[in-house]
Amino acid sequence: MIEIRNLRKRFGTIEVLKGIDLAIHRSEVLCVIGPSGSGKSTLLRSIAFLEAYDEGSVTFEDRLIGYREENGRRRRAGEREINADRSGFGMVFQHFHLWPHMSVMENVTEALRVVKALGRAEAEQIGREMLDKVGIAAHAAKYPEQLSGGQKQRVAIARALAMKPRVMLFDEPTSALDPELVGEVLAVMKQLAQEGMTMMVVTHEMGFAAHVADTVVFMDQGRIVEKGDPGATFADPKSNRLKQFLNTWR
Ligand code: ATP
Ligand code: MG
Repeated sequence: MIEIRNLRKRFGTIEVLKGIDLAIHRSEVLCVIGPSGSGKSTLLRSIAFLEAYDEGSVTFEDRLIGYREENGRRRRAGEREINADRSGFGMVFQHFHLWPHMSVMENVTEALRVVKALGRAEAEQIGREMLDKVGIAAHAAKYPEQLSGGQKQRVAIARALAMKPRVMLFDEPTSALDPELVGEVLAVMKQLAQEGMTMMVVTHEMGFAAHVADTVVFMDQGRIVEKGDPGATFADPKSNRLKQFLNTWR
């Protein structure tokens, strides 16, 4: 569904992604783990073209993301083209990025109304369905500041789901939460996984990776060092880097 080939990204003179090859299949849950600075966020952001990669390719359902190739030449896609390229992705970040001046319902329906040009009734029907799915329907009229972090993150998930993404990209969705609120967000993500959503999740939640992921990818210094099913990857890490990394989490 997503094919990443020889993906490279530099910030200035520092190469942050050093040739990533990775495929994500339909309904696969892929968890990306690795130390701080290893390039996990840059990889996720490059897939959605929030960062423009320098070399290689990201294709989503056989369509190149962010660039157009004509007569053997590659050009950066225009803003509209890029928006179209990423329209199948739903994104959830560590910090929720909710609009503070909008109610929960307005947050969830804004893009439906602006991007999909739906009327209020239709948008709110979808909004209610999505808020219900993440267990927040009772808080639809509240404002983000009235919610806990876990509730805010569930609103962010509902907002992404409202656009009917074909893939969900999560970047440390629980890292900013108080420990007692992590579980409610992971539960929603687990439910999504069980419904067959294709998901790529950058996470430090080893329990989630172990129990929900189909595939675990360990990154270090801009490269994929190990990749495999979570059982084997956690029980029998091949590289010293992953052994060390897992030891810090035990
Ligand atoms: P963390 O676990 O801390 O979130 P990460 O694995 O997500 O780390 P990235 O955020 O992808 O790591 O960063 C990889 C490297 O790229 C780091 O060295 C970081 O400092 C650098 N970097 C990331 N974004 C930028 C940027 N916009 N400009 C310059 N350097 C950047
Ligand atoms: Mg990161």
